[in-house]
Amino acid sequence: MIEITDLHKSYITGNTSLHVLKGIDFSVKEGELVSIMGSSGSGKSTLLNILGMLDEADSGSYTLDNTPIKNLNEKIAAQYRNKFLGFIFQSFNLINYKNAIDNVALPLYYQKVGRKERDEKAMHYLEKVGLADWANHLPNQLSGGQKQRVAIARALASDPKVLLADEPTGALDTKTSYEVMDLIQGINEEGRTILVVTHEPDIAEMTKRIVNLKDGRIIDDRLVNQVKAKAHV
Ligand code: ATP
Ligand code: MG
Repeated sequence: MIEITDLHKSYITGNTSLHVLKGIDFSVKEGELVSIMGSSGSGKSTLLNILGMLDEADSGSYTLDNTPIKNLNEKIAAQYRNKFLGFIFQSFNLINYKNAIDNVALPLYYQKVGRKERDEKAMHYLEKVGLADWANHLPNQLSGGQKQRVAIARALASDPKVLLADEPTGALDTKTSYEVMDLIQGINEEGRTILVVTHEPDIAEMTKRIVNLKDGRIIDDRLVNQVKAKAHV
């Protein structure tokens, strides 16, 4: 599903250049649930943003679903993002003046899906995350965990093949974090490929594979003991 080889990325600010990703080789098969760990500044979000086509590497190759992602024009890149990728963020990134169902339907609106189909699909995904009764609530009428569920439903709305989550539990308490990870595990069990960036070892242990980044390189890549992974829930 995802294959990257010898990926490099530097940020240039003024006269200084910061080499953040220093040759990453990494692949993810369809249906995997992978966490990316590493200390602050190790390049986790940079890597996830490149995988999510929100940013481009300086060199190296990236293949998504057998298609090389390089120099795509903005229109084709946007089509790819919509078709293949769903995003979940630490701060939920919901639109405050839109209710839950309209937040979930937003990606479909941008894809020019008609109102009726948008609402049906959005309701379907709200049901899936357990929030059917909260469809008309605004984000500030929801708890953190509920907001993240809405964000997950929104990420699923366009039925992407891959979900990319950057610290999805970073703003949640421990119990709510486990509930959100439980939901993510369930979505993965239906066959969707998911990558989760996290600082928290307990959260990483709830995925199937842990990749450790340090100073822009992968220093460890291991499968999780699945008996342990289920112990929290
Ligand atoms: P955290 O755990 O704190 O989220 P991270 O592992 O996600 O950290 P990145 O956000 O990938 O780290 O950042 C890696 C390094 O690149 C950091 O030193 C950061 O300051 C720098 N950096 C990130 N984005 C930019 C940018 N747009 N311009 C310049 N430097 C950047
Ligand atoms: Mg980050």
